[in-house]
Amino acid sequence: MLDAVQPDRYLIDSQNRHVTSKTVVGGSGADVSTLKSAKPVAAKPVAATPVTVKPLAARPVPAKSAAAANKSAKPVQAKPVTAKTVYLTFDDGPSGLTGEVLDILNTYKIKGTFFVLGQQAERRPEIIGRIHEEGHAIGNHTYDHNYTELYHKFTAFWNQIKQTEEIIRLITGERPQLVRAPGGTAGKFDAAYFDLLEQGGYKVFDWNVDSGDSKRKGVPADEIVKMSTAPHQGNEAVVLLHDGAGHEETVKALPRIIKYYQKVGYRFDILTPEIKPVQFKVQIEPKKGQPGSVWIAEHVTVNAALFRQGNHLEVDMNGLAAIFRSGEYRMENGKLLVPLRSAVERLGGRVNWDASNRTAKVWLGGRSWTADPFMGTIQSGKSQARQVPEIGMTGHTTWIPLREVLQLSGHPLKAIVSKGNAYKIQTL
Ligand SMILES: [Zn+2]
Repeated sequence: MLDAVQPDRYLIDSQNRHVTSKTVVGGSGADVSTLKSAKPVAAKPVAATPVTVKPLAARPVPAKSAAAANKSAKPVQAKPVTAKTVYLTFDDGPSGLTGEVLDILNTYKIKGTFFVLGQQAERRPEIIGRIHEEGHAIGNHTYDHNYTELYHKFTAFWNQIKQTEEIIRLITGERPQLVRAPGGTAGKFDAAYFDLLEQGGYKVFDWNVDSGDSKRKGVPADEIVKMSTAPHQGNEAVVLLHDGAGHEETVKALPRIIKYYQKVGYRFDILTPEIKPVQFKVQIEPKKGQPGSVWIAEHVTVNAALFRQGNHLEVDMNGLAAIFRSGEYRMENGKLLVPLRSAVERLGGRVNWDASNRTAKVWLGGRSWTADPFMGTIQSGKSQARQVPEIGMTGHTTWIPLREVLQLSGHPLKAIVSKGNAYKIQTL
């Protein structure tokens, strides 16, 4: 599973391959109709007695929130234009080493991007769940990494992308939109591979810093550190690393790589579909066996709708705005559901998952409470746990009614207003 890399052949062509931002179209049916009828709705009296509103501590917005907010073109924190950013990317996992990689990223409080193989995700769904839960990005690295199969014709590549996407969606509830070609695109993608993946709604990311950890078996940590910290073009470093089996030296090198980028003033972030991708130039002639127009229409053209943006959901709570893109929230039986951890973190709180009790302990708005997605209960303060049937797990993610999150934090929902392409949730 080594990516045969020959860095000198790579030319970066970020200009030509600039991906224009997606057109925002009306939201998907169910959400819109339900919410539109609720436009400015008088708040249901949530609490009979006025709730004392405890101001939230002015915590810095966690990295994920900032990234998410930028995605939605609603900056919470302006980033300096000249900021240097490093994106650590890990290919070929999850493996028995991925847990160690996640521990290291946690130690340094940074996030990374994992381009996973469908085959490995099937073997280790719990690690995929953990990557997702801890706020890292997950990208698609095909199902089995087999060059012969993947690069003889586009339809074969596409089928593996879709197969892997489905495996990940069943675990996390989200479709990965980022794609990394096994071995990189250079010498492997013809123009059609690039064009059709883009048409299908995917964002293909190569890299501009190669750690060299897959050049041969057992590249020593020292060499990986040296290659990973080599100069690169521009202000953004996209570093290629591997967390597949046999990459113990990469794990060993990782803390030193992180410390280097911290020392020279980089911020760490995850790749998102909105970032202009680093892509190598097309180096090969069109392959034989190009897909026909009917196949393209049936597979690729309709696929893009899966990633098209519907309406944002914007929650204003005591001066903090949390934004959920369509797909990051959902309606069920007239209730707005959000992923517990990302909702709480974006609102300035934190969540600890208690693996032995399988409950989530939440601190938000100066209060704390416990959600049990398996029992479907919430317990707050000294009171008895109460049933909230909508709480549950999708894959490894806990989903919860937004109304509960707001109420339990002391900022009950006041109104939902439809404004432009966003639904605004106002709280007391
Ligand atoms: Zn790979």
